[in-house]
Parts: sequence; structure tokens; C-alpha cells
Amino acid sequence: MPVSLDLTDPQTRSNLDKLRPADGSRPSLVGMDRAQMVEAMASIDVPEKQRRMRVSQIWHWLYVRGVSDFSLMRNISADLRGRLSEAFDISRPKIVEEQISDDGTRKWLLQFPSGGAGKPVEVETVYIPEEGRGTLCISSQVGCTLTCSFCHTGTQKLVRNLTAGEILGQLLIARERLGDFPNADTPQGAIVPSEGRKVSNIVMMGMGEPLYNFDHVKQALLIASDGDGLSLSKRRITLSTSGVVPNIYRTGEEIGVMLAISLHAVRDDLRDELVPINKKYPLSDLLDACRNYPGVSNAKRITFEYVMLKGVNDSLEDAKGLVQLLKGIPAKINLIPFNPWPGSNFECSDWKQIKEFAEFINANGYASPIRTPRGRDILAACGQLKSESERLKKSDRLALEAMMIAGHGE
Ligand code: SAH
Ligand code: SF4
Repeated sequence: MPVSLDLTDPQTRSNLDKLRPADGSRPSLVGMDRAQMVEAMASIDVPEKQRRMRVSQIWHWLYVRGVSDFSLMRNISADLRGRLSEAFDISRPKIVEEQISDDGTRKWLLQFPSGGAGKPVEVETVYIPEEGRGTLCISSQVGCTLTCSFCHTGTQKLVRNLTAGEILGQLLIARERLGDFPNADTPQGAIVPSEGRKVSNIVMMGMGEPLYNFDHVKQALLIASDGDGLSLSKRRITLSTSGVVPNIYRTGEEIGVMLAISLHAVRDDLRDELVPINKKYPLSDLLDACRNYPGVSNAKRITFEYVMLKGVNDSLEDAKGLVQLLKGIPAKINLIPFNPWPGSNFECSDWKQIKEFAEFINANGYASPIRTPRGRDILAACGQLKSESERLKKSDRLALEAMMIAGHGE
């Protein structure tokens, strides 16, 4: 890693400028990799010999201790803390709203700067507590360029990609709100052991298509899994894609996290309608990419998500097709009961149909958990983000909840 920097060098300048928000505000240190942080230190005249040491200290404060205020960084002199806070930002995103569901699911509406002229943007982040673990569902974009016909996010145009810092900011704020960081004020404040964490898993399954924001998602996930910082195991991070084939191999090779594919149909004609990116990357290309996913094995299976749409993709013929299609691929199947939103043209399959579908694929050797719809009362379930109030009939919900096994991530 180069530690000697010439700040008159246009390359160095432009690297830092790239990190400067378009509205001219202070760049965030959250989301910079170590090399960028070294450049950041150089830009405020930290002597060359100290830069890497300072970066390690700041990394620890940000990601192990979870501080969002330079004044708490005790092993950094007041003078340097002053210079850091003049030049850089480490504050959390603004919480516009926090909602807690009857089942413990939490949803935060977070605000970020517009990224240029215009209004600030908002994204949602959802926390799903489960027996022995807790999963954070993180957004990668504001809106989405794709238009999957059953997804509410798909009706919202892409506003912009989130930066690496904004993607990580969602994890940091959730850990802070849930008490996953040690108390920075006590010198002996114990570091929360990884087994006891509230956020044990993360899934890139919020708003947006993560593989259309590859570089930022990659940088955020590499920081989230860094052993000297947030230390989340890559086996506990799942990235879900609608099928951006050219970036699937890169995800395994360059990020190394678990992969989930939003499959939803087993024939090209139907998938073209439900997940229109299929017209560009049809099923055969998508499944080839899965077969060649770096690191795929029976111990590291790919999750195939399948939303259950009444009368559309939920017949036993479809179940047979699914088993056929996935032959030879180490796979898990996640059945997602469709979550309705106002104006959607689909209905969720009947419970009996979901059960028969699940039994068929189970009998053919696939673990096929049905994903419990969580947080429906606060509209935090898959595909409902940003939609208005809509409730399942209570009898349906009770029936589903009694029988479902949750299936997010590892
Ligand atoms: N854009 C990425 C990740 C976000 S969506 C992707 O498509 O994979 C997370 C999952 O929720 C996807 O499998 C998506 O297809 C599914 N989903 C979207 N809308 C839904 C809805 N209304 N009900 C149930 N699942 C939905
Ligand atoms: Fe975008 Fe995923 Fe929704 Fe499709 S399912 S519109 S890719 S967020």
C-alpha cells in the first residue's frame, strides 16, 4: 500500500475528490478503505510515518467501538481530533422514523443527502430478530432501475446509488440502536463478543439491485467483514440479485459472500414477465453463472428465492420444473409468500398450495423453508418497502406463522 503521497499529484487529488460529496460537505471516513484513509490523513498533513497507525486507530474506533464523534477517540490528540473533525464526517445517517413491529421486527427510515442538487433521499433498513440470530436487511440503491412486476420498489425509479459509507451506515446505526457496540465512555467497555450480537447476519435484500452498484456494495461488504473491524463472517452475509449475470462471478471472486438468486419462475416466457432482466440474461445463462460461482459447494449453497404468486408460478408443474432446473447446483430454495402492496396485480398463493409446493421440493431433496413474513404490520416485509398500510387477514397470518420456518441467510 503506498503511504507516500504527493498531494500536488492530480491522481491523489482526484481520488480524494471522488469521495467528496457533490454538495461540498465533508467526506465521510465511514466507507473508505484503508488506502483511502491513508490519503485522507495525508490531506490533513498527518506525518507520513504516522498515517497507517492513525488509520488503524480510527478503524478501531469506528468499527469496533462504534463511535460517531471524534471527541471520543481517546488515543488521538485533541489537536488532531480537531483537524479530523474539520475535514471529515463520521456521523450516522439521520433516522426519520423508527418502527417496531409486534413480532420484534424493526424498520428504520433513514435520510441521506441528495447526492447533488435536490431533496435528501430516504431508504429503509429492516432488522429481523430470530431464535439465536438477528438479520439486518440492507438497501443498496434508492429505488431500482429494474421493474419486477410483483415488487413495489420496482415501481420507483432509480434515484441514485448509495455510497459505501451509506451502505455501512445502515449497519452501524442498527448496531448502535440495538446495543451491539460497547459503551465508548467506559475505558474497559467490553467488546461485544461475536456470538452475542444482535445483528449476526446481513442480507443485501432491501431496496435496489446490489449488482448494479457493484463497487460500492463490494467496498461496504469488505469493510463489514474485515477482521479488525466489524468482523462479520462472509458466510453470514448474503447478497441477493435478480440475475445480473456478468457480476455474479465477480461477487464470488472479489467479495466472497453467500449468493441468493431471485428466481421466481422456471420458464423464460414467465420469467421475462416477472423479472424482466431475464430478457437480457435468460435462465440458461443465469444457471451457468450459478454453477460457476466461486466457492459453491454443498457446505456453501446458493439460495434460490421463489415468490409464491397465486395461479402464476405455484403449480406442481412449476415445482417439478424447479427441481429439474436446479439439478446439479448446490442449492437451497426459499419460498416467499407474496407480500401485497397497493396497486399490485398479484395475490399470494393459498396456504395449501404453498405447503404442497414445499412438500414436493422437500421430497426431492431440497431444504425449502418458507420465509415467515416478518414485520407486515409495519410494512417491513420483502417487497413492501415504502408502501402504504396493507394487512393480511388475521386467519391467514396465524396459519402461516404457525407453520413457517424462517429462511433468511445462513
Ligand atoms: N434487488 C434484489 C434484492 C432486493 S429484493 C433482488 O431482486 O434480488 C429481495 C427479495 O424480495 C427478492 O427475491 C425479491 O424478488 C423479493 N420480493 C420483491 N417484492 C416482493 C413481494 N411483494 N413479496 C415477496 N417478495 C418480494
Ligand atoms: Fe429491483 Fe429486486 Fe425489486 Fe426487482 S425485485 S424491482 S431487482 S428490488
